[in-house]
Amino acid sequence: MVLKYLLVLLSDSSASFCYYPSPKAEIPKGIAVANSHKKDNAFHISDEKPTDIYYNEKQHLISLDHLKKTVVFALKNNLKVNFLYPHFLLDEAYTKVIEEVEHIKIIPFDAKIFNEDAILILDSNDFPTTLDLVNYTHQNFILKLQKKDLKKLDTMIQILLAKSARINLVLMDLENYEEKDYAIYEKQLGKITRKLIQYQNQNAIPELNFLTDRIDLNQMNNCQAGIQHLTIAPNGKMYLCPAFYHENPSEDLGEIKNEIFIKNARLLELNYAPICRICDAYQCKRCVYLNKKLTLEINTPSSQQCITSHIERDASRRILEKLQKMHPDFNPQITIPQLNYRDPFEIVKGNPQKIATLNHP
Ligand code: SF4
Repeated sequence: MVLKYLLVLLSDSSASFCYYPSPKAEIPKGIAVANSHKKDNAFHISDEKPTDIYYNEKQHLISLDHLKKTVVFALKNNLKVNFLYPHFLLDEAYTKVIEEVEHIKIIPFDAKIFNEDAILILDSNDFPTTLDLVNYTHQNFILKLQKKDLKKLDTMIQILLAKSARINLVLMDLENYEEKDYAIYEKQLGKITRKLIQYQNQNAIPELNFLTDRIDLNQMNNCQAGIQHLTIAPNGKMYLCPAFYHENPSEDLGEIKNEIFIKNARLLELNYAPICRICDAYQCKRCVYLNKKLTLEINTPSSQQCITSHIERDASRRILEKLQKMHPDFNPQITIPQLNYRDPFEIVKGNPQKIATLNHP
């Protein structure tokens, strides 16, 4: 394991930025939040100081002591930190510690806390109006798209495009995806692709993890939980990622320390993932939490994850072809061959011997 960064869940109510569902977050009376997205709402201002009882007992905020230990650990090991924020402002003692280390703030958009360097989490359930977004430019967004909103993806992306430097899409309810949903996703990506090409004409193509990452990649660029990053939860313990904490807090990896023991750690590696190893959907998250949840095997992906990633890969292939036609010197080292399958499992199924060989590189 070569740790590069830590994820820190500042509170049990920190919004989810990935496939696991967000915990219920309530903003109780007496907790101050900025009341608009105007730039003059300084990040740390609160009109009424929340009580310690609220912080520590009701929302399970990480203790100041654990936060300090985390920051010292990050500084000593030269790690960056991604702080996952709750829906309320932190008091000064917390913000002071956070500012000591190089970090990224990941904040739920509906917390209405303006910070132009932060990554903002949007949920399609409460997608903002254009008016809410008026003060944003070149922001990084994470869009958590609920399956019921799949048909609105193109409209949401269109609203965000003008405001974004990067959009990371997370498909929620992936376990319930069926053929008809794949067809809708494919159609939506087609619509977004046409818009992206127009942006390219203006020489300002925004980054979209599900469409433009693959056109720049010639090797896997997966999540790497447990390999490049670990999570510190509000209880001060380490976990593979926030999802593992929320699913089962007792499955921790122990206190913050350098020697972390992860049972069957090699199963997290690409070399020990027989299906992913033969795949070139390099933009795929290869989410080990989803693997475990949907296939019960941490190194075996679900067909839903593979099919949606291949729909993205194919849309990226079309974008790359168009761009290389328009600009022959555009990423000449990248190729995305057309495939006749949507799930690499189709290649390895019925050939257990091949899987066995791939399992032992
Ligand atoms: S598409 Fe499937 S096989 Fe390919 S990297 Fe993603 S999870 Fe692995």
